[in-house]
Amino acid sequence: MSLPATAAGLRVLVVEDEAEIRRFVRLALQAEGCEVHEADGLQRGLIEAGSRRPDLVVLDLGLPDGDGVDFVRELRQWSAAAVIVLSARSGEADKILALDAGADDYLVKPFGAGELMARVRAQHRRQARPAGGGEPVIRFGRVTLDLLRRTALRDGQALHLTPIEYRLLAALATQPDRVITHQQLLRLVWGPGHAQDTHYVRVHMANLRKKVEDQASMPRHLLTEAGVGYRFVA
Ligand code: CA
Repeated sequence: MSLPATAAGLRVLVVEDEAEIRRFVRLALQAEGCEVHEADGLQRGLIEAGSRRPDLVVLDLGLPDGDGVDFVRELRQWSAAAVIVLSARSGEADKILALDAGADDYLVKPFGAGELMARVRAQHRRQARPAGGGEPVIRFGRVTLDLLRRTALRDGQALHLTPIEYRLLAALATQPDRVITHQQLLRLVWGPGHAQDTHYVRVHMANLRKKVEDQASMPRHLLTEAGVGYRFVA
């Protein structure tokens, strides 16, 4: 299956109250052939999202009439549009809340057009993949992960993962190019009731990387999003 290499034709809604940033984002998106709609606040943004049905939303978290996190919660009740949040350096907590609420990725202001478009293309590719993963076998680097048999191979040899390592790898590998927060991983892998135990994730991630990465100290597939969580890149 061939995945789209550009973002051309993608319908994007930009929700941002600062006119200058909105313009910057619009120009970057239009330069790659995206259809762009704009809103300068939360309420307007929800109305636009409802009428335009965007494929992707670029969302500022600090809006004059509300919190972008509330926008994500509301949107997620009826839309599967990809959401990239824009956060100020001081808005780390909001960024994590937005990801936990269902946002897919984030950019910290100030950011460049190249960085923005790389994230937009990644979300576009992610959406172009068949729903539900479709493919029960995920290949990356030297690893083959078989979701039906619940097994993993490395260079064709059985890779011995603990049940936790397997669930951790499957949780990330089935959601490529998406930032998964520590909280989300704890829920997915350990279940409810472990929300505070983020050190579990770090310990098991370190072991998992030793097994699947060529160099655990320089991971190419299981990437750290500092202070937030992890991102799988095939
Ligand atoms: Ca703002």
